Amino acid sequence: MSASATGLVALKRNLGLQSAIENLKSKMPKRLLLFDIDGTLINSAGAGVQALILTLAERFGIQDDLSDIEIAGVTDSGIVVSILNKHKIPATHENITAFLDSYVHFLSLELPRRKGKLLPGVLELLEKLKSRKHLVLALLTGNVSRGAQLKLEHYGVWHFFEFGAFADDHQDRNQLGPFARARAKEKHGREFSAAEIDVIGDTPRDIACGKALGARTIAVATGTWSRDRLAKHGPDFLIDDLSDVDRLINTLGW
Ligand SMILES: [Mg+2]
Repeated sequence: MSASATGLVALKRNLGLQSAIENLKSKMPKRLLLFDIDGTLINSAGAGVQALILTLAERFGIQDDLSDIEIAGVTDSGIVVSILNKHKIPATHENITAFLDSYVHFLSLELPRRKGKLLPGVLELLEKLKSRKHLVLALLTGNVSRGAQLKLEHYGVWHFFEFGAFADDHQDRNQLGPFARARAKEKHGREFSAAEIDVIGDTPRDIACGKALGARTIAVATGTWSRDRLAKHGPDFLIDDLSDVDRLINTLGW
């Protein structure tokens, strides 16, 4: 056999192997992966909090560093209600909407002013997961959708996610899971059972909302919560960060 014919046989074999692998992958059970944003995918270096502080100052004329307001894991609308309550401003729909509109404006200014970053391993992980056709990547976050888009576009990863459940859907994070699930059904024409869903986040509130959905919970200690403190909330998996990408994919069966 000539060298070119041998090469052709090898090529055919490779192509056969590749299509067999693709075939196997396409038969893998679908999974819906729901990612939190702040402390899980990105650290905005305080851009979000600063945008809240500026909104309160510019729109409501109140100076407050918001150090006593619980923020991590809380929905944007929930945070706004806490701030309004603290300052005895009626938490009307009008005031909440006005606050959030200004917040999004100031967020767009603050993001480029700060040295935020993608957290370790995030880009590599998203690239690898996106190439696996049985995985659906989406967001489950306390951000309002406009804020989520601003943040993730700023750090170049918005395009990885098909859809999301946001603070616009509900003020209580534990109620967001069903919105994500309904959108997955709209997009993919099938119901994702609780056993087919992973919720990935950095706070006990992410773990709680994953459990509320009956999903598998993966806690990552890259936010303000340490590994030990997260452990007390009983996530199914607990990891330091997302940097060991291949091991993570193998361990979680992604
Ligand atoms: Mg978070």
